[in-house]
Amino acid sequence: KPAGSSNFIRSIVIDDLQAGRVKEIVTRFPPEPNGYLHIGHAKSIWLNFELADEFKGRTHLRFDDTNPLKEDIEYVNAIKEDVKWLGFEWDGLFFASDFFEEMYERALLLIRKGKAYVCELSAEEIRRTRGTLTEPGVNSPYRDRPIEENLDLFQRMRAGEFPDGSKVLRAKIDMASPNINLRDPVLYRISHTKHHNTGDKWCIYPMYAFAHPLEDAIEGVTHSICTLEFEDQRPLYDWVIRECEMPNVPRQYEFGKLKLSNTIMGKRYLRQLVEEGIVDGWDDPRMPTLSGLRRRGYTPEAIRALCRETGVSKSSGIVDYRQLEYYIREDLKLKAPRTMAVLRPLKVVITNYPEGQTEMLEAENNPENPEMGVRHIPFSREIYIEQDDFMEEPVKGYHRLYPGNEVRLKHAYFIKCEEVVKDADGRVVELRCTYDPETKSGSGFTGRKVKGTIHWVEANHAVPAEFRLYDSLVTDEGDEAAEQAETAQVAGEEAGDDAAGKVDTSFLSRINPKSLEVVHGFVEPNLRDAKAQDKFQFFRHGYFNVDPKHTKPGHLVFNLIVSLKSSFDP
Ligand code: ATP
Ligand code: MG
Ligand code: MG
Repeated sequence: KPAGSSNFIRSIVIDDLQAGRVKEIVTRFPPEPNGYLHIGHAKSIWLNFELADEFKGRTHLRFDDTNPLKEDIEYVNAIKEDVKWLGFEWDGLFFASDFFEEMYERALLLIRKGKAYVCELSAEEIRRTRGTLTEPGVNSPYRDRPIEENLDLFQRMRAGEFPDGSKVLRAKIDMASPNINLRDPVLYRISHTKHHNTGDKWCIYPMYAFAHPLEDAIEGVTHSICTLEFEDQRPLYDWVIRECEMPNVPRQYEFGKLKLSNTIMGKRYLRQLVEEGIVDGWDDPRMPTLSGLRRRGYTPEAIRALCRETGVSKSSGIVDYRQLEYYIREDLKLKAPRTMAVLRPLKVVITNYPEGQTEMLEAENNPENPEMGVRHIPFSREIYIEQDDFMEEPVKGYHRLYPGNEVRLKHAYFIKCEEVVKDADGRVVELRCTYDPETKSGSGFTGRKVKGTIHWVEANHAVPAEFRLYDSLVTDEGDEAAEQAETAQVAGEEAGDDAAGKVDTSFLSRINPKSLEVVHGFVEPNLRDAKAQDKFQFFRHGYFNVDPKHTKPGHLVFNLIVSLKSSFDP
């Protein structure tokens, strides 16, 4: 399926190509290297790359690195890795900072045309004089500075003569415009900060609203796709392209963000979780980052399926995160071998099984994919079963093991519980059972039936393993606070106000204290050499991934990717 058949941006591209308005489509994915990519970014990556691919165009990876305070080369490298992992190859790699000289020249051009001026109001005064939706803004006292004076001051800003925050360059548009973004927006600010790419070369940095359209135009981007918060900035985008006399004229199109229920996405929120040690880094398996999802065990196929199937539209509805769980199950169903793992072990001794004997039983690796063949698993007098699969006093409808009841051991025999062994505190520590050799799996035995089938691992060959079971990191309460912070941030950045980037911490109260449970049990011996990122379906439990960070020789750690759709009860 192409990039969404009912995708309005795709229709625009088709129109532009048919009408000859563009010869070749060029898109870009423009992350700011100030954090790791999350699944929302995947949507934008997918849309930009798939659109260009479909129409034999090109896609650039461009680092929108105009804010040196928050940016770092660590993020640049992580972003490249994540885009590749998703399965996309960029046709050009760019850094906005490589264009700083050209942007500066364009700013000089604006000044010479009388379209920009150096303003000495503070960020706070600029915000206060912008006006509101119902009231026009107030002209800055510096608005009518002579062109020569503006040129001189702007050059001296670049030369480093003035401290941070003392002056900005503003566009001279219209303080009474109904669109607040056009009320003399800030184009440049002073920041004596070392930049990850340009070092100490610059102490003035362009604002997003000025830099972004110029980057697009310089790279020859035709369709500049962004998210809905930037809709009101489109007139400014067009103004910059026109007044800076850019030979290429890109067009901006906005679509609704991908949002997932029970998921917090903004990078600034994710950074807080990392910095406050609430999670184990940006790649914690509970994080919605691509690196977190990868470590959890999600595949690029599942993430791309989510992007494709949730469509592209002008509104941003919230997608149920269970949809992503559906796609990973679909992807792993035929790929992941099925094996048995006991997460919370209970010892079972089969009293009538010969002591010292081990037999090998045949087990299919994936009943839905016979090509995956069979394996052989040991069986003996001692096994582990799941604590949950025994109840001393069974509740109604419980068909697993209880005193006097018989169940099937998957791939093995029927066993019957004869005796319960307890410790001094009355806790069940061992079961003593008998087995019926006639009932061997695959023998065609039909003499009698049992209602429950349970999994197990042979005790002497079992491989100890740690299992990390995850639940949502945050619970939902609507994302309105985040939404407002977002809008404030766009507006604040526009005003050249770094304080507006401050994070609202109320979301921390939505953190689920039970998002991680660690248990210790056993897996089948053939998993002894499992490697980082190997994926399995543990019978009756769900899909698990070998954790690449905490797995060490002799210490296997499995991350729960997703439980099975069917309930845990057989
Ligand atoms: P965040 O708000 O999470 O920090 P951002 O928008 O600031 O994200 P950028 O690095 O500036 O992150 O974004 C790179 C691209 O990804 C932009 O084009 C942006 O619109 C897009 N993007 C970010 N979040 C989403 C999302 N949830 N759904 C779709 N596209 C997104
Ligand atoms: Mg950003
Ligand atoms: Mg943002």
